[in-house]
Amino acid sequence: MTGSTIGWFTGTLVRARPLTASARSITFTVPGWPGSDAGQHVDVRLTAPDGYQAVRSYSIADSGPGEEVELAVERLPDGEVSPFLVDDLEPGDTVDLHGPLGGWFVWRPDRTRPVQLIAGGSGVVPFVAMTRAHARAGSNVPMRLLYSVRTPDDALFRDELSRPSPAVTTTWHYTRAVPPGWPRAAGRLTAEAVKSAVPAPDQGPLTYVCGPTGFVESIARTLLGLGHVPDTIRTERFGGI
Ligand SMILES: Cc1cc2nc3c(=O)[nH]c(=O)nc-3n(C[C@H](O)[C@H](O)[C@H](O)COP(=O)(O)OP(=O)(O)OC[C@H]3O[C@@H](n4cnc5c(N)ncnc54)[C@H](O)[C@@H]3O)c2cc1C
Repeated sequence: MTGSTIGWFTGTLVRARPLTASARSITFTVPGWPGSDAGQHVDVRLTAPDGYQAVRSYSIADSGPGEEVELAVERLPDGEVSPFLVDDLEPGDTVDLHGPLGGWFVWRPDRTRPVQLIAGGSGVVPFVAMTRAHARAGSNVPMRLLYSVRTPDDALFRDELSRPSPAVTTTWHYTRAVPPGWPRAAGRLTAEAVKSAVPAPDQGPLTYVCGPTGFVESIARTLLGLGHVPDTIRTERFGGI
């Protein structure tokens, strides 16, 4: 890990930008922040004027030293916290941040195994941190991303992930609607589609899977069925079904 302290910090919102109609990137300046590794997350705590508190976890969209923490939050229509973070929080507002958290679901540039990232929806956020860390380090370790979203307009960080990169290959999968001329119909990510996008087990990939719980469990089962062994599969569940 970049820093060594895990604690509670006060984050002040300094930048916000929409990513999709229902998601935005929010960047906090966090005095004393120890830095983070790609893939780590924070707990965000909100406190209402009457003292009521709510805490949710959010992946950090970047890594390294420095006192800025970027998150990317997708609004769940009936959610308690995410609509506030996407729609209401304004520059200058503060939240409490606990972290950086997680030491297993991380990628560090000194790793040498090929990497396969598989994201569903907002599960791409820790992988944005990993692809950025990979680019910054000039790593020549093969890194691939398989990103499943409902429609092209639902993709977080679409422009960044679509940019041609010498080292990171992104494969897009759409479950509800495809772009014009797309060669495949919209639908669930099948075992066949996973097999064609992911390196075979004998190539030794380390595979990270992140997204809603149902997505992660289904992909993990698929990977096991394709012969990937459990200790090469790292998963992070964002909740829901
Ligand atoms: C380690 C970790 C990292 C996470 N990183 C991110 C991130 O980078 N960006 C992000 O947007 N979210 C992330 N999440 C999810 C986040 O913590 C919240 O669960 C999410 O924002 C919903 O909170 P809420 O208060 O708005 O909804 P709640 O009021 O908690 O829930 C409202 C309804 O939505 C359902 N629900 C809760 N979470 C999900 C989900 N993920 N998908 C579908 N349905 C759900 C609940 O079961 C409930 O029915 C992460 C979760 C974990 C555990």
